[in-house]
Amino acid sequence: MSGTHADARRDELGIRLAQLRGRIAVACASAGRDPAGITLVAVTKTYPAADVARLVELGVPDIGENRDQDASVKAADLAAQGVPVRWHFVGHLQRNKCRSVVRYAEMVHSVDSVPLARALDRAAAAHRDRPLDVLVQVSLDADLERGGAVAVGPAGQVDPDVPPERRLDEVAQELVGAEALRLRGVMAVAPLSWDPDSAFDRLADIADQLRQRVPAATLISAGMTADLEQAIAHGATHVRIGSALLGKRAGMG
Ligand SMILES: *Cc1c(COP(=O)(O)O)cnc(C)c1O
Repeated sequence: MSGTHADARRDELGIRLAQLRGRIAVACASAGRDPAGITLVAVTKTYPAADVARLVELGVPDIGENRDQDASVKAADLAAQGVPVRWHFVGHLQRNKCRSVVRYAEMVHSVDSVPLARALDRAAAAHRDRPLDVLVQVSLDADLERGGAVAVGPAGQVDPDVPPERRLDEVAQELVGAEALRLRGVMAVAPLSWDPDSAFDRLADIADQLRQRVPAATLISAGMTADLEQAIAHGATHVRIGSALLGKRAGMG
């Protein structure tokens, strides 16, 4: 890839990666956790396939993307170069994109409705030779516009405004019965106006409840550049890091 000539971008990514690994190590030390229990997912949205190849070369094989239009092109490009990438789909997934995503993804973090679970299962059954690992995306603030399935409240109440197809227990039940999907845990983004500690504390409770019903659902995808320490303190197994590693994205992403 870089051959023998200097690759300044690779060096820059290497330095940022070392700093990030340092942050993760410190967070693990204060939480009494082993860094080996944390999977770093590098979120490369808006960055080119060449950066993905550099990250894989630097020892980061888990790569996250949030749009199929971009991810499918990068996945084809890197597969053609023989670069071994484990793709994680972390963004809002439209049902008509399932057929594409199941062909390259190792894990989908963002299943948040019963119809999406069904569409993804059908696509995985038709287009994969092994099951697809999935996480249920949880909405912690029950803002349905922003994605995520809603758990019953801490007191056991069910919000009547949440349609059954967006309830966490309904989505989980659909996934447990799916033929070509394996429910492995939960994912969330801390709501903007919330203290990340209380957000991830609530997520940990929701993850515990799910694990009582589904023992294989042990994963917690939580924590981004701004709040990875709090996520690790509350049991994250997967952190999804974009800007700390790749740099600030231009515009929205
Ligand atoms: C972009 C994105 C991230 C990474 O965000 P940073 O703040 O850049 O680390 C993580 N998760 C999801 C779902 C994203 O869309």
